[in-house]
Amino acid sequence: MTIAQKLSFDVQLSGHARTAAEREQVLANPGFGQVFTDHMVSVDYTEGQGWHDARLEPYAPLTLDPATSVFHYAQELFEGLKAYRQVNGSVVMFRPYANAARFNRSATRMAMPELPEDAFVESLELLVQTDRDWVPTTEGHSLYLRPFMIATQVGLGVNWPSKTYRYLAIASPAASYFSGGVKPVSVWLSTEYTRAAPGGTGFAKCGGNYAAAFVAQRQAVENGCDQVVWLDAAEHRYVEEMGGMNLFFVIGGKLVTPSLTGTLLPGITRDSILALAADLGLETEERLITVEEWQAGCESGELTEVFACGTAAVVTPVGSVKGADRAWTVGDGNAGAVTMRIREELIGIQYGSRPDTRDWIHKIA
Ligand SMILES: *Cc1c(COP(=O)(O)O)cnc(C)c1O
Repeated sequence: MTIAQKLSFDVQLSGHARTAAEREQVLANPGFGQVFTDHMVSVDYTEGQGWHDARLEPYAPLTLDPATSVFHYAQELFEGLKAYRQVNGSVVMFRPYANAARFNRSATRMAMPELPEDAFVESLELLVQTDRDWVPTTEGHSLYLRPFMIATQVGLGVNWPSKTYRYLAIASPAASYFSGGVKPVSVWLSTEYTRAAPGGTGFAKCGGNYAAAFVAQRQAVENGCDQVVWLDAAEHRYVEEMGGMNLFFVIGGKLVTPSLTGTLLPGITRDSILALAADLGLETEERLITVEEWQAGCESGELTEVFACGTAAVVTPVGSVKGADRAWTVGDGNAGAVTMRIREELIGIQYGSRPDTRDWIHKIA
């Protein structure tokens, strides 16, 4: 249920914001998700009253009762998007309304209240505007935005979802994922574990999906691989996703990606690449892809490239694949031409060096 509600944010600026010198020191080597800006946004929700107490305030720890629902039953969801400083100096976000819509689809699945899309986007505009000096100027760097929502009701009763929630948004400067040039990753096919099953929460961006995934990611590393690849729950045969990213295959020159069966997270990068492919003269297809097709295609030479995509790392080539009883290389193991062309195009739009013909760029300042 969307409540048509106009929120106005109370602004309380930090009295202990970092100095320009301190900020520059962080921005020289930001890493990913380690350091946060001086402010955050919070909005509270109470059943019957709706959203209230919208505010921008100094970034600070939260104080929550140990019996708060989110700690016990993981009623939580999040989003991830970036603010970019474009080549002409303006600060923009990429498709924030797509994130707002997905936030609400996740909320519905998690029995949490929807946040009006305008309030979601406005909260991020306010945060980025206030902390705009934290948006890196270095090429390839960005300000990563993390909106999220938690259940805040105190008590251990589980017969109903929480009646109170808090929406928050925080921001963290991020380096380019590949500081030393784009490097293909190796992947581990997980047949022991499952990320998502039909009827579950696979399409929702909730922390619980990640909590269930860490053990498989650790197993991938133990097997000498960088990332885990998830297969379908029933047969462990159909390819779904790589860690927190969607997958694309170049098969017979066509761009193929697993269809959104309900167990995959519908990535905004995935959606953007499907749209961009046409501009680049590439045919696209959304369908099921099996592990056998992947391996046989690489062996015959029909399947030439594989890459993963998501907001954090944009486009990441996959160079080699390993499973319990098999291992093979994709192409010659290096990043392919189609992969790099798509990566360049997308980054070009985000940083303003390529035309934005689809109104994906949302200007903030
Ligand atoms: C966030 C996420 C993605 C990528 O989504 P984008 O909108 O492209 O960043 C893919 N898979 C999972 C599991 C995710 O959580």
